Amino acid sequence: MAESVELPSRLAILPFRNKVLLPGAIIRIRCTSPTSVKLVEQELWQREEKGMIGILPVRDAAEVKPVGPTMSQGLDSLDQSSKLQGGSSDSHKLDTKNQNDVVHWHNRGVAARALHLSRGVEKPSGRVTYIVVLEGLCRFSVQELSTRGTYHTARISSLEMTKTEMEQVEQDPDFIMLSRQFKATAMELISLLEQKQKTGGRTKVLLETVPVHKLADIFVASFEISFEEQLSMLDSVDPKVRLSKATELVDRHLQSIRVAEKISQKVEGQLSKSQKEFLLRQQMRAIKEELGDDDDDEDDGISHYKFQFQKTLGSPWSKYSKILCRKSIDFNVMLSLRRLKKMQPQQPGYSSSRAYLELLADLPWQKASKEIELDLRAAQERLDRDHYGLVKVKQRIIEYLAVRKLKPDARGPVLCFVGPPGVGKTSLASSIASALGRKFVRISLGGVKDEADIRGHRRTYIGSMPGRLIDGLKRVAVCNPVMLLDEIDKTGSDIRGDPASALLEVLDPEQNKTFNDHYLNVPFDLSKVIFVATANRAQPIPPPLLDRMEVIELPGYTAEEKLSIAMRHLIPRVLEQHGLSSEFLQIPEGMVKLVIHRYTREAGVRNLERNLASLARAAAVRVAEQEQFVPLNKGMEGLATPLLENRLADGAEVEMEVIPMGVNNQDISNTFRITSPLVVDEAMLEKVLGPPKFDGREAEQRVATPGVSVGLVWTSFGGEVQFVEATAMVGKGELHLTGQLGDVIKESAQIALTWVRTRAADLRLAATEGINLLEGRDVHIHFPAGAVPKDGPSAGVTLVTALVSLFSRKRMRSDTAMTGEMTLRGLVLPVGGIKDKILAAHRYGIRRVILPEKNLKDLAEVPSSVLNNLEIHLAKRMEDVLEQAFEGGCPWRQHSKL
Ligand code: ADP
Repeated sequence: MAESVELPSRLAILPFRNKVLLPGAIIRIRCTSPTSVKLVEQELWQREEKGMIGILPVRDAAEVKPVGPTMSQGLDSLDQSSKLQGGSSDSHKLDTKNQNDVVHWHNRGVAARALHLSRGVEKPSGRVTYIVVLEGLCRFSVQELSTRGTYHTARISSLEMTKTEMEQVEQDPDFIMLSRQFKATAMELISLLEQKQKTGGRTKVLLETVPVHKLADIFVASFEISFEEQLSMLDSVDPKVRLSKATELVDRHLQSIRVAEKISQKVEGQLSKSQKEFLLRQQMRAIKEELGDDDDDEDDGISHYKFQFQKTLGSPWSKYSKILCRKSIDFNVMLSLRRLKKMQPQQPGYSSSRAYLELLADLPWQKASKEIELDLRAAQERLDRDHYGLVKVKQRIIEYLAVRKLKPDARGPVLCFVGPPGVGKTSLASSIASALGRKFVRISLGGVKDEADIRGHRRTYIGSMPGRLIDGLKRVAVCNPVMLLDEIDKTGSDIRGDPASALLEVLDPEQNKTFNDHYLNVPFDLSKVIFVATANRAQPIPPPLLDRMEVIELPGYTAEEKLSIAMRHLIPRVLEQHGLSSEFLQIPEGMVKLVIHRYTREAGVRNLERNLASLARAAAVRVAEQEQFVPLNKGMEGLATPLLENRLADGAEVEMEVIPMGVNNQDISNTFRITSPLVVDEAMLEKVLGPPKFDGREAEQRVATPGVSVGLVWTSFGGEVQFVEATAMVGKGELHLTGQLGDVIKESAQIALTWVRTRAADLRLAATEGINLLEGRDVHIHFPAGAVPKDGPSAGVTLVTALVSLFSRKRMRSDTAMTGEMTLRGLVLPVGGIKDKILAAHRYGIRRVILPEKNLKDLAEVPSSVLNNLEIHLAKRMEDVLEQAFEGGCPWRQHSKL
């Protein structure tokens, strides 16, 4: 930078709108107006030695504010000089174009030297533009401004101090003090900026090399200060004034930087970790809101679960479950809630997460129904009231309850009622529940082959569900119900696991405290549940499971028992269910007997109950039909007549009278009571139930031809009478078997045929009337009903009898039925289910039963009322059976007798 600048007396003037160029500063100006373009071209561009121009600040008229005295004075003198030059009356505005573009010129400016010039591309219109980079050199004052040329020129005088003047000032102690102060402030600013921007110490060099009064300008030029302050800086011709002003401005700038820094530091410091988190959350929420997934919707019920869990987990837990369950529940709940909160309802997995939480919330973790003080007499009365007969069974139940009363947490065996359908197994279990004052829940296990049905599916599977036990507990909503495991014998195992092993865990008091359902994934305490099981047969139940249970057999009812059950329990219940009473419908004993004998042939009473219900329904229809013709009782008459009369007297139409709802069935049947109750007779039986299904003569008809025998078999429906048909035709001596037979029964048929062949000579079967029945003949044995699968060894004697009957051409006795396994040598071995089989024979109206001798002991279980009506024949060998099966004894004997 030059020490001092020599200025010409005249300068071309470039107006600088609302800005000030200070000495030492550098500006870049784009010159586009024709005046400035002309100025640049003539004063700078075309000259070899680039000249100087004056930069004079101007202010728009609109922005004119009361300004300092120097400026107005300057303007006045400018105006005057314009006037002197013979300008018009408004020449003080020095407007070149129009009134709107009025500008006020400042009377001090800065001489500038071009550092760089560039010419823009010439436009098609011929216009050119220049970009000029100028450096401010020194102040001048305008003596006279001329507007005569295309651009302004001014006569100027330099405001720069001479060297000697400057030396004098530099001696001035005030100046020294001021410059020291300025330098210190400037130094501070530089250090601060360098610290912030981490720049090197180049600016500091300036402080040492450049004279202080110039530094003042350079520093101030680098800040953003107002136009007024820039002007006043320009007007500070006195170096002392300039220094003090500059110090003030630099200091102000320094302070503002410091304050800004302090604020940002403070704000940063205040943002603690939690606040940061809060901020982030706020941001996340804002983003979510923006995306439209606001998850604070209370309606989705999440708060409800939270509440439920607080409620459930808040109450005291047993020490054991506290450790085991609570932690894992909390964990599961927390995880699921968190997952659910992040999900959209339409998102896959939302509903399954929700269903899981719902299950957790709904499960009765510790909610138990209050146990009533067990009154054994009341329990006995209740059992007697609900069930007829079953003395031994009821006795055992009372014993069971007595033990529970004395030792509530006794780990007694699980009761398992075994018997054919409809014998009262389920209703006995529900009677136990009501005797204990507990809720009752029935879990059907029939056909369960998958272990997951008991234990639940893991939640990783789509459509996973809890097991049936947990589901049942959710339904019943208490943790101490009586739970009936229905048809426990119908579970089977296959590749999907073994449900029986899961049931073992359920029934084991050691393990069921922490029953683990895969879906729930939290141990559930089943120890408070009282388990009762039912099965049709004990044999298919896996031995380990059977070991945990005490089997109580319900063999089925005799016709007499059924009659009593019907009269005492079924008929009142059926009438009640249909809104009838005995005053309305009567089913006489004789008719019930007919229903039992002609329409049912079952071990239990389910079909009997169904048939009685059909009769009740038919009666209900009759009530409805008779309604209009039935005379109203007195109370109704008194009410209805005046109403009817009034309306008829008025000539109005008769309106319907509405009988209020809430009138119970009893009232209705009272209201429409018919004069005499409807008594069921044979005609009504046939009309409602159809022609009799069984007439007691079936056996007689079936064995009308030789080759048919009557056997007794055992099925899951109890004992049954099974006919065996045999026939022979020309062939190669093969045996054909039909009727859905299992392997065991097929082998029995083989044995039977072999035995008959070997004994053919003895039995005189081989050459009856000169024809050999056994040679060159195929034998076909059929077991009706053909659609029902059959198996088991107990048909051995029946098969032989059928073959002997066929080949001897003798009919078997139609009043006789038999059962027993036979060895190849003709020995008769004992079989199971004797009680059921004898009951079945009794139902069929059979009078004589042939049994293996070794089954004699089983007869003790058969009710004496049945035995009294039957002739039992015991057989040791096959010959004994044949002896009893045919009228007049065994064919062989007959022959030997001859
Ligand atoms: P299961 O469970 O053995 O198949 P249920 O318990 O369902 O049979 O009994 C069928 C119907 O027979 C029920 O309405 C039941 O009350 C009735 N029932 C069975 N046995 C008796 C009985 N001894 N006394 C009274 N009602 C009985």
